[in-house]
Amino acid sequence: MPASGFDASYYAASAHSQPRFPPLQGAIQADVCIIGAGYTGLSAALHLAEKGHQVVVLEAAKVAQGASGRNGGQVCVGLNLSQSELEQQLGSEHARQLWNLSLEAVQLVKDLIARQHIDCDLKQGILHTAFKPSHVGRMQRETEHLQQAYGYDGVRFVPGDELHSMLGTDRYHGAQLFGEAVHLHPLNYALGLCAAAVQRGVRIFEDSRVLEYSNGYSPGSQTADGIRVQTPQGSVRAGALVLACNGYLGKLEPRIAGKIMPINNFIVATEPLDAGLAHSLIRDDVAVADSKFVVNYFRLTGDRRLLFGGGENYSSRFPADIPGFVRRHLLQVYPQLANTRIDYAWGGTLAITRNRMPFFRRLDNNLYVAQGYSGHGIALATLGGKLISDAISGSPQGFDTFARIPTAGFPGGTLLRWPALVAGMLYYQLRDRLS
Ligand SMILES: Cc1cc2nc3c(=O)[nH]c(=O)nc-3n(C[C@H](O)[C@H](O)[C@H](O)COP(=O)(O)OP(=O)(O)OC[C@H]3O[C@@H](n4cnc5c(N)ncnc54)[C@H](O)[C@@H]3O)c2cc1C
Repeated sequence: MPASGFDASYYAASAHSQPRFPPLQGAIQADVCIIGAGYTGLSAALHLAEKGHQVVVLEAAKVAQGASGRNGGQVCVGLNLSQSELEQQLGSEHARQLWNLSLEAVQLVKDLIARQHIDCDLKQGILHTAFKPSHVGRMQRETEHLQQAYGYDGVRFVPGDELHSMLGTDRYHGAQLFGEAVHLHPLNYALGLCAAAVQRGVRIFEDSRVLEYSNGYSPGSQTADGIRVQTPQGSVRAGALVLACNGYLGKLEPRIAGKIMPINNFIVATEPLDAGLAHSLIRDDVAVADSKFVVNYFRLTGDRRLLFGGGENYSSRFPADIPGFVRRHLLQVYPQLANTRIDYAWGGTLAITRNRMPFFRRLDNNLYVAQGYSGHGIALATLGGKLISDAISGSPQGFDTFARIPTAGFPGGTLLRWPALVAGMLYYQLRDRLS
């Protein structure tokens, strides 16, 4: 997967100062070794350190320069599948547990921001808009279901005519307004988690790609003999290992690589807009995500740029012209921005699963994985890290609620999944274009 794109992002240009950490050199020990310094790894590190564990984080590149420092910044309520779909697939009790965890995830992000005093342009509200008239009824029914069956009053249905007074586009036909959802500067949020973890004694090493690990644990014994993790210039011996690599996992752990598919998604940020224009585009300063298969998502930044995500690819390269690639999606929603300058354009790699639900597993008893958030990772990866910390500390209930979700691998496993996936994705993109 391409690693480029971070430096071209609006987030890199508006980041709070970022501490640098040395590469790992020599042999060290820890209670827990974490691979990957995005939300999953940083949240796991912070929560483990708060419980008194000695933690080492190994990051192949730089802290939060994976998806966690590049994303759309929308902290969504709920999961990728609707509650009605989850009830059908998993039963109502499991579906309700997952719903409660999704609310806990959003609340955890808000609490961490408040508790750690993280300055990350936090704003309230997400509109989930219907891209086709045929999507409206489904949204209205799901809203009523959340209100009635779950007693949830943080969502309301917005009919088309009201929506047209909220957004400066007639592209959408109705919406769900999630008032408790938030949006934020994702990189500054991650850097805040990093600072809090370091303050509690977490040791972080950058430019320290994990090449391989070996596990002394054997299923017959109750205690782990330890895991040895190897980087180019050093090694860590630890009692437990956390894989927090998500879309950048590559071939590091073949047992789980085929459960996720890395995909690239792209974002632009315009020049700062004058207050009147910004207000006419998104009246209430909420974030917006639509119901297209390849979702368009947009919001205003702290300095009033329109940040617009749209378009994805499934190759090992980013498009040569990312501004042009995203701009055509932007102009379909806001043609009035045809003459507005685009100041930043970048891409990132996320991981999806086949059922679009996160993939949590415990391998070998002392090796934990949380990945495949399928575009809902700000809240769910933050929660995933905390649930791993809870599980390592003897309270596995939350982690196990996710780990019980059955997740099929992609057809073709790790080697042959691309052709089938690309064909499937292109089919659904085509359906987006047909009304
Ligand atoms: C363009 C884009 C838009 C998105 N928009 C949203 C959104 O609006 N809302 C939302 O909730 N989610 C969104 N997402 C998804 C969200 O960003 C991710 O789900 C989340 O950041 C995952 O966090 P993570 O810590 O698991 O992974 P990452 O942040 O990707 O971190 C994984 C880290 O592991 C490291 N790593 C990998 N292999 C190794 C190795 N062998 N050794 C050492 N380190 C290694 C990588 O370098 C990387 O830093 C978006 C993603 C993208 C790309």
